[in-house]
This record gives sequence, C-alpha cells and structure tokens, in this order.
Amino acid sequence: MNRAFYTFLSLFFISIYTYGQPLFIIEQKEKKYIGKHIEILEDTSNKLTLHDVINNPNFVRSTTEVPNLSVSNNSYWLKINIKNTLDTPNLIAQMGLATIDYVNYYIIYDDKRIDSIKTGDHTPFSSRPLMRPDFSFRFTLEKNRQATIFFKIKSGEQLQAPVTIGPENLMIESFFNADLIMGVYFGIVFVMMLYNLFVYYSTRDKSYIYYVVYISIVGLTQLNFQGYSYKYIWPGSVFISHQAVYVLSILVGIASVLFEKKFLMTYQYASKEDKWFKLFYAVYFISFIFLLLNKLNLSYQIIQINAMCTALYMLYVAVVVLKKGFRPAAYFLVAWSIFLIGVCVYVLKDIGILPYNNITYYMMPFGSAVEVILLSFALADRINTLKKEKEDSQVQVLLALQENQKLIKEQNIFLEQKVNERTLELAETNQELNVTLKDLKNTQAQLVSAEKMASLGQLTAGIAHEINNPINFVSANIKPLQMDVNDIMEVIAKYESITGNDHLKEKLEEIEAFKKKIDLEYTKGEIKTLLAGIEDGAKRTAEIVTGLKTFSRLDESDVKTANVNDGIESTLTMVRSAIPENIKIVKHLGAIPIIECFPGKLNQVFMNTFNNAIHAIEETKAGGTLTISSYVLDEDHICVSVEDTGIGMTPETKAKIFEPFFTTKDVGQGTGLGMSIVFTIIESHKGDINIETEFGKGTKIIFTLPMKLAVS
Ligand code: ADP
Ligand code: MG
Repeated sequence: MNRAFYTFLSLFFISIYTYGQPLFIIEQKEKKYIGKHIEILEDTSNKLTLHDVINNPNFVRSTTEVPNLSVSNNSYWLKINIKNTLDTPNLIAQMGLATIDYVNYYIIYDDKRIDSIKTGDHTPFSSRPLMRPDFSFRFTLEKNRQATIFFKIKSGEQLQAPVTIGPENLMIESFFNADLIMGVYFGIVFVMMLYNLFVYYSTRDKSYIYYVVYISIVGLTQLNFQGYSYKYIWPGSVFISHQAVYVLSILVGIASVLFEKKFLMTYQYASKEDKWFKLFYAVYFISFIFLLLNKLNLSYQIIQINAMCTALYMLYVAVVVLKKGFRPAAYFLVAWSIFLIGVCVYVLKDIGILPYNNITYYMMPFGSAVEVILLSFALADRINTLKKEKEDSQVQVLLALQENQKLIKEQNIFLEQKVNERTLELAETNQELNVTLKDLKNTQAQLVSAEKMASLGQLTAGIAHEINNPINFVSANIKPLQMDVNDIMEVIAKYESITGNDHLKEKLEEIEAFKKKIDLEYTKGEIKTLLAGIEDGAKRTAEIVTGLKTFSRLDESDVKTANVNDGIESTLTMVRSAIPENIKIVKHLGAIPIIECFPGKLNQVFMNTFNNAIHAIEETKAGGTLTISSYVLDEDHICVSVEDTGIGMTPETKAKIFEPFFTTKDVGQGTGLGMSIVFTIIESHKGDINIETEFGKGTKIIFTLPMKLAVS
C-alpha cells in the first residue's frame, strides 16, 4: 500500500537524473541552489558506506536546482564536485532543509584527506558544526583546488536537498537574512499572540483564546520547519525534535479547524457543514496512531493529504458562512486564502512545479504572517460586529423599554383618571345610598309603626268585640232588672201607705193580691239571675281589662321578670275575637318558671305567630287546630311551641319568612314584617326559632328562650 501510495505521489515529484561529471565552480556570486551540479544515488538498502559510493557509477545528475527526493524510507547520497576560484579558502556548504532526520557530511580533498560530520534532526543539536537551524558545514579549500562533497541524507518527512556552497562572507550574510526574515515573522506572531491574549483578558471573548492557541501552534510549526525550535527551544531533546514535525502538523490542522469553528460560529451559521469537521479529526487521529507505531512516512503522507483537504474544506465552510451574511467570514476567507496560497506555493515548490528560491521558500511564513495579522483584524471586526449587534439590540430593548414606560405612564394617567372618576362615582353612589338608606330607615320605621298600628288596630277591634259582649249582657239585664225593681218598689210603697187604722186587713189582702199579680217570687229569682248576669258581665270586662293591661306592656323596653304563660293567655284574649268558630284552640301550658324577658315584646311575638297560624288555618277553608304549648327544655331554657294544621310552607317560603317585606299574602293583607319582627325580638332575647313545616300539612314554630337574660 505504501508503495502504491508512493507511486501515486511520484506523478508530482518530478525528478529526472542525467549522466555526466558536473563540477561546481565556487565564485563570488550571490547565493544560489546548486542542484544541477549534484549527482544523486538512491540507497534502498540503507547500508552503503562512503567507501561503497565513492566510485559508484550509478549516481544520477539532478535536473532541478533543488533535488526533490519525496517522502521515502531510502537513504540518498549526494555527490558534488567543487573547485574554488576565490582567493579566500574559507567556505561553507549548506543543506538548507532543517527537518532532515539524518545528515552525514563528507568532504574528500584532492590529497585524499577526508573530513566527515554526522548530524541531523535525530542527533543532539550540539552535533552541528555551526549552531545553525539548518545544516551548515565550514571547510577550507585553497584557490584552484578541487574537492568532492558527499551528503548522505534520510528523513521520514518530505525530503529535499536545497544545497548551497559559497564563501563564508556571502553565506553568513544569507544566514543573517534568513534569521532576520524569520525573526520578523516570529516577532509578528509573538506580538499578535501577546496582544490578543491581553484582548482576551479584557473582552473575555473565547475566540481570542482559540486564536492565540492557533497562532502559537502555527508559529511553533514554522519555527520547527525552519529548525529554529531545535536550536532555541529543545536543543537537548532528540525525542521532541524527532516527533515535533508530525505532532505540530496534526496540532496545527486541529487548531485551525477549532479556531474557524469558534470564530465563524459554524455550529450556528453552517451547522450541517460543521459536523464533517469530525472526519478530519478522525484522519488526524489515524495519522497519530501511525506515528505511535513509528510508521513515520505513512503518518506524514496522511497528514499532508488530510491537511490539504482540511484547508480546502475550511475555505468552503467560510464561503458558506459568508453567504449566510456573517461579515467576519470575509476577513477569514481572505486571510485563510492568503495563507493557503503560501502553503500551495510551498507545496508546489516541494513537488518541483515551482522553483525553489527565496520567494517560494518564504511564501509560507509570509502567508502565515499576513494571515495572523488579518485574523487579528478580523477578530477586532468580529467583536465590533457582535458589539454592534448587541448595541443595536440594546437600543431596541431601550426603545421598547421607553415605549413601555410611555405606555405605562399613559396607562397610569388613564388609570388615575378612571380611579378618580370611579371614586367620584362611588362617592355619589355612596351619598345616594346614604339617602336611600335614610329613606329606607324612615320607610322601615314607618312600616314598623304601621305594623304596630295594625296590631293596635287589631287589638282595639279585639277589645271592642270582647268588651261589647259582657257590656251588652249587662245592659240587656238592666231593663228587666229595673222593671223587677219597680214592681218591688211598688210593693214597698203599698206597705208604707199602711197607717195605724182598721183597714189593715183589707190593705194586706190588697197587697197580697198585687204580689200575686206581679209574681213577686219569680221577680225575686229573676233579680238574682239578672244580678248574677251583670256580675258575670262586669267580671268578663274586668278580665279583658286585665288582659289588655298585660298585653299593653308592648312598648316596655326594660328587662322584666314575667310569666310567659300570662303573656300567652293575654295575647290569646286579644286575638280571640279574630278566631273563627271552626278553629279549635288547644293549650298545654306547662309549669314554667318566671323568666327574664321583655314581656311586651314577647307578646308581640306571640300575637304575630298566632295571627300567622290562624291565617294559615283559614287558608285551608276547613278549620283546624291551633295548639300552644309551653314547657321547660332544660335547666336554663324554656320553650313555647305554636303548632297549626294550616297550609304549611314550601321550602322556598320557609327560607324567606324572616326577610322583611316577604309575604305570600295579597296586597293589603300582609306587610311581610311580622316574622322579621319576631326574629329581631327573639334575637334580642338570645333565643332560638325552629320551624318545622310541611306544605299542605301545617307548621310548628318552636321558640327557645333562656331563663336568664344577660343584658349586654
Ligand atoms: P305577613 O303575615 O304579613 O305575610 P309575616 O312575616 O308574618 O308576614 O309572614 C311571612 C310569610 O310567612 C307569610 O306571608 C306566610 O307565607 C308565611 N308564614 C308565616 N307563618 C306561617 C304559618 N304558620 N303557616 C304557613 N305560612 C306561614
Ligand atoms: Mg304575619
């Protein structure tokens, strides 16, 4: 597989060898690569020694200024015949690629003297004859003398042989130039790193950290490519030097993806494309595994191809994000393109399509520096963009807030107005209500007094009726009594006319006859009867007057001790006249103690209740019974129950009977105040009213009254 891969790659790595015996003349000319004077021998066994190759006829001449030996497991021998035409004997031969793992340098002078130095990326830095990041070898060769230089090189990475040989002064000048260029590059990267790190500390925008990490790795990679890291950072560590190229290549690929993801917010602007980055991570991971397995060539090839694909894909994603209208993507696109151009030039140079010279050589660090700077601008712009977006939204929020406040203010004014209006309305209504209440109170007072007047009227009628009977009885007796008395008076007058003469006998006989005539015996009896009748009438009248007296305690407002039974009796007396013949009154008045109460008010309760009961019985048009009972309930309470066999009440009526003005009676018949007055009075006695009723059957109203009335 490795072989097939190599074949595929060699399509690009054009290296054509030609025959001949080239000789490189050292002159005072500017530094240039001398590939066309180099002959190359590929050692597939990796076992050939200098001795083996000195006279080997299989050396092939390179056709390019910088021989491209691609990525290979083989060792390569380079042979350069040189002749010094300069006055100075101090010369330097340079192998300009810093990442070659093994560089063996041999020089054979024409007097057969041999010098050799073994160095490379896989030997400690101290093995280098000149403390250069590249591989430079100082030697002396007198004017017009010849020598042959051999290099044996081998590497896990892309292997090229940028060889230059020249006088010391020229070479050292070129070293300075190289150091200067790379110094400028690292300076830019370093300053950008520091600057953006500070920006991160002030903005706390994470993309700055990604940027800093990214350019640190890019810078380190470049540093490593140019060999400076080995010189300055880890000169003692062969291990790091060995691994750095691979690890850094992987890290730079991953870091660039991470930075792009963060910077362009790809999860948001290119969520679909964003997912595919994982694929590249995976390939990098695979290359890392091969690295661990020490399959350096394979690992490096995978890294190279993956880096190329990743870079192009990143470009594509940036375009996608740009199309979504995220402006920083434009900066990114330009920066990334410039860097990629640098990389492309570098790679094209590596595979021999572009010439290997200072421009192509420094194109990658140059592209990288421009990228680093542009990306820093892009970050600033991005911050601005985000800030502006934020400010815009803040302005929006502020506007909305102001609008809200305005609305709230208006609402408040409106509400205040409404409240004022309402308050005024309420005040008016309140006043109206007060007036109405006053009216109502007046009306109620009037009605109560009307009810009272009605009671009084009824009372008066009752009294008149009651007194009328006995008085009639008396006056009817008086006429016959007068006649009887007249008869007796006549008898007495006849006796008085008798004087002391002899007509006594005659006179007496005459009186006897008169007595017989007027039936004196009967008259006497009649007088007795008549007098008894009068007495009876007078007694009845006196009784009524007593009842009236009891009842007329109606308006007494003081707590008195009274016998409730007396109240019931006197009330019954008062209403009796209104009771038709077909209503039977049954009394079960028990031995109840005298209680504390408002006797007049209780009488009104009885009267209202009796009247309702009588009315309810009358409604049945069939007569009935009114049963009045009184009894002791417990040691503190007595009860009075008023039971009728009247029409009873529906539940709706029962629920409402205590409401003032509630009546089922015709207009003019009831005021609807009776039971409400009853309620008020019983309440003032701290008593209870219990109503049992069934429509069509009758009603039983039970009053429970406390014996002691604690007046508050
Ligand atoms: P009024 O007698 O002027 O209608 P009341 O307050 O005395 O007002 O009674 C209210 C209503 O309660 C009566 O109209 C009547 O419908 C009902 N009511 C009260 N007592 C009885 C009762 N003993 N039997 C049936 N209905 C009654
Ligand atoms: Mg009534």
